[in-house]
Parts: sequence; structure tokens; C-alpha cells
Amino acid sequence: MNFDEILKNLEAAHLRRRLQVVDSAQTAVISLNGRQLVNFCSNNYLGLAADPRLVEAAGEAAERYGWGAGAAALISGHMSPHETLQKTIGGFFGSDGVLLFNSGYHANIGAIPTLVDREGEIFSDVANHASIIDACRLSKVPVSIYRHCDPNHLEELLKRPATRRPRLIITESLFSMDGDHAPLIEIANLAEKYDALLYIDEAHAFGTCGPDGRGLWEEVIQRKAMSLSAAHVIRMGTLGKAFASFGAFVISDPVITELLMNRARSYIFTTALPPAVAAASAKALEIAAKEPERRERLWRNVTLLTRLLDRESASPIIPFLCPGNDRVMQATNDLIEAGFYVQGIRAPSVPEGQERLRITVSAHHTEEQVRALADALKTL
Ligand SMILES: *Cc1c(COP(=O)(O)O)cnc(C)c1O
Repeated sequence: MNFDEILKNLEAAHLRRRLQVVDSAQTAVISLNGRQLVNFCSNNYLGLAADPRLVEAAGEAAERYGWGAGAAALISGHMSPHETLQKTIGGFFGSDGVLLFNSGYHANIGAIPTLVDREGEIFSDVANHASIIDACRLSKVPVSIYRHCDPNHLEELLKRPATRRPRLIITESLFSMDGDHAPLIEIANLAEKYDALLYIDEAHAFGTCGPDGRGLWEEVIQRKAMSLSAAHVIRMGTLGKAFASFGAFVISDPVITELLMNRARSYIFTTALPPAVAAASAKALEIAAKEPERRERLWRNVTLLTRLLDRESASPIIPFLCPGNDRVMQATNDLIEAGFYVQGIRAPSVPEGQERLRITVSAHHTEEQVRALADALKTL
């Protein structure tokens, strides 16, 4: 095994990844290698990452509870701030079944194998996130991949005789790389028709989309657009993106919550989050709920940028295709020269040939910054 060779091959294919050090807080303008750049590639959609109220909440919790949780949640690591956070999430989403995980990655790789319990089968959108792909692998059950956002293809796969139970359909609600929405109503109707559970990854939708930022499934519920029982829907959300903190949660029927707590290995066998992190997350949820103007500013910026680029987009994630690893990394460098930071996304994060700049808009961008980015993109 020649590790050096592997890295050289990555280099030759323009696939070698390198860390960039950000030497400032995560505000609209960041300091990167000594340069001031307007950041258009963070998932800090509501502009809360550097909010002093989060810092203060973390500081107060640290004063009172110290720093580390010291053990896994089920041993002695579940502290008052974790409990308060779970209740805050439950209040925000109107659910009694909430379980905190250490990250979205942990949540997916823990919850999904637990739900299918080696006996079921999985139906997964081809564009689902790497953490879902890994969760499918860990599940050790048959996985049928359906074409991106294609309920007809999903139905073809579901129509086959069901020899395994439960059947679990998995989709993101707002897709992380294309910024498009899953056809949740159609998928939910199929879940009902074929007696399947529905697992929705709302990592990018919570805080940004749906009624009061409660995600795209909530929109379906409010429109009373389908009759799938709530007990059949499991939702995952992260605290690392719009809520600008760290950690994640799964919302489900309380029986499922209890099952996950007892069986999900990535819940059981890892140290609980530091209590101060949980306190900052609860503060972020509170601010997101009482300052709807943040979502309004976010969507105003989305509308402005998509209009300037002559696009349509229903999300703060705006892909700008630049096929070719060398081309997309050149585009990233050109934008840095122009004062903007937008990461090029290459395989395997996206399929080969679909390399792109993944532009993300935030509530903290000014109109001038958005206009200037559109101008810079046009000259690429
Ligand atoms: C970011 C992301 C995750 C992982 O969440 P973290 O809290 O960052 O680990 C899971 N699913 C999707 C779709 C994501 O974009």
C-alpha cells in the first residue's frame, strides 16, 4: 500500500483536499489566510454562528456546569442543559419524541440501522447525503436506490413483493448539493400505500424552510396534503447548520425515540456534547423562533441572487455548475481573487461531471454583497 502514491494521484486529478484556516468569527466577511473574503459557502443560514447571545449562553452554562460532559448520555453525561435542549426542540416542533445526537452524521448512522434492525429493507434517493449512504451500509439490509426525486421509480421498487419488514424510505427534504425539494407528498403517499416508514433528513430545511422554519414536512402537515400517520414519519435535523451550533436530533413517535435511545450505537457509545454547546443550541432555537426577520432576510437574499443569475431556486443552496475538477477549483481561486469565498464541490460529494460551486446565501449578507457576487460570477 503506497499512501504517498494515493495522495499524488488525488493531486493529479485535482481531487486533493486541503484545509483552509479561518482566522475570524463566522460572520459574513471572514479572514482566510490573511484575506478578507465574503463567505458564500457556509451553512450558517440565519447568521447566528457568531451571535453574542449564543456565546453568552454557552459562557453561563460553562460557569455553572463546567466544560465536559465526561461520559455518554446514558452513563452520567446527560445534564440539565441537554434535557432543556431536548424540551426546547420538542416545543419548537410540537413533538414529545425528541432524541439528541452528537451530530447529524451520528444521528443518521445510529437511527437508520436501528429502524431496519437487520430484518427490513431500505429505499434511498440516489442523491442522499454520505451519512445516509454510510447508514445504509451499516444497516446490512438490502438497499434499493431510486432516481433522484422520482416517485415513479420509487413505486416501481416498492411494488416488488415485500419479503422484509420494515420497509424504510429515506430522503432529504431540501437536498444539500442541488438545493431542490423532495416530492414529499408523493413519497408519503407511497409510504402509506406500501406500508413503509418514512425517514426525512431535514438538515438544510430546519430553520430555513416551512412554517416558522420548522422544515418541509411541517408544510405538508399544515396543508393536510396526505394521510400518512405521524407514527410512520421520522425526521432528522442538525444543530450545526441554520442553528449555528453543534449536535443533532431525531423527532419521532415517542416509542421510536425510546427504541433509538436503547439501540442506536452512535447514541450509546459516545460522550455527550459539552453542556455549554447544548445551552448555545437552545438559545439559537429560541432566537430563530422569535426573530422571523432572519428568515425573511435570508429569503430576500435568495430571491435577489437567483434573479440576478437568471435562475429559479427554492432554497438558499444555489449550485453553479462548473464541470471538471480543475475548472471548478480554478473558479474558486478566481472568486477568492475577487474577494469571495465559494468552495468548489467535486466527486464523490457530487457525481463526476457535475462539479460545481455550491453557493449558500445567509441572512447576514447585505444586498451589496449579493449583487457583487452575482457580478463576479458573471465574469467567470
Ligand atoms: C450536514 C448534513 C448531515 C450531517 O450533519 P452534521 O450535524 O453536520 O453531522 C446530514 N445530512 C445532511 C443532508 C447534511 O447536509
